Amino acid sequence: MKKLLSIVILFSILILVGFHKPPPQSYKNFSIQPLSEGIWAVIQNDKGGHAICNAGIVDLGDKILVFDAFINPDAAAELKQAAEKLTHRTVSYVVNSHYHDDHIRGNQVFMPGASIISTEWTKKEIQKSEPEEQDWARQNNAGQLQKAKQQLQAAKGKERDEALMWFGYFEAISQSLLKLKTFLPDITFNDSLWIHGSKRDALLVECKNGHTGSDAVMILPKEGIVFMGDLLFNERHPYLGDGDPDSWKKHLGKFYKDSSLKQFVPGHGPVADKEQLYVIIQYINDLQRMATEAKQNGIADSVFIKREVPALYKDWWYGRFYSGNLSFVYSKALK
Ligand SMILES: [Zn+2]
Repeated sequence: MKKLLSIVILFSILILVGFHKPPPQSYKNFSIQPLSEGIWAVIQNDKGGHAICNAGIVDLGDKILVFDAFINPDAAAELKQAAEKLTHRTVSYVVNSHYHDDHIRGNQVFMPGASIISTEWTKKEIQKSEPEEQDWARQNNAGQLQKAKQQLQAAKGKERDEALMWFGYFEAISQSLLKLKTFLPDITFNDSLWIHGSKRDALLVECKNGHTGSDAVMILPKEGIVFMGDLLFNERHPYLGDGDPDSWKKHLGKFYKDSSLKQFVPGHGPVADKEQLYVIIQYINDLQRMATEAKQNGIADSVFIKREVPALYKDWWYGRFYSGNLSFVYSKALK
């Protein structure tokens, strides 16, 4: 009886503790995944959210750093709020991993107050491409959003999940066009840059000609955590057409061989371990091999780009990048 009573008391305590535990904070545009004390992966909500890429929050001790700033300022404001809530400090540094709009358009919400860091090449490319990209969006995005809405309404089953992500993408652009202000990086580097904090250091490494002409990767050496930007996609087709597949593979190979590195935050998709780097190397290898064989057999580009997705990658999202990827590696094959 005594035993039963103590069990009842124990359960009552557990229930009470459970009731009083604050529910985990939920965000509209992303979820937060702690990777180590003071280091968080910010994973985009791809069910219609407006972030469109992953990000990171790092407590350097005396300074707070955010890695990548999303496509939409309102989503970035939510990221800023999350960083402040987690660390009780304001954000001092925002890193732009590369110039693509989904990683930089939230810069403005961290200003004034933060420094924006990128490679020198990336800064020049943002300066050049953003006015053109924003003009294009002003003219075409409404039509793209309408199309995405129709595709979402027609989609069924698994297709619907990805259609919702694309709808969120075009909606995030539409919703932001009137308020966009371009803030360029004010700290730039070539090759590498150490950022020293009172609690930990972060190393930014430039990878030339990978996913773009220049991509910055952030390494937290003490913890073996790497924020890869778009050099890594997880369970999604990478976008090859703006970089160099051969040197992309070399960059991934270098990180793969480094035994001190354990956890990898991709630009898109869930947090990965080292094997995912190898999977992307393999993906590029497979497409390159297919392109070389097609060219040797006299198969035209227009026929080649209709090739089925190999079984290994069939369930990946961003299938719309696949034929462009085929065409890109075909143009480079046997040269
Ligand atoms: Zn990108």
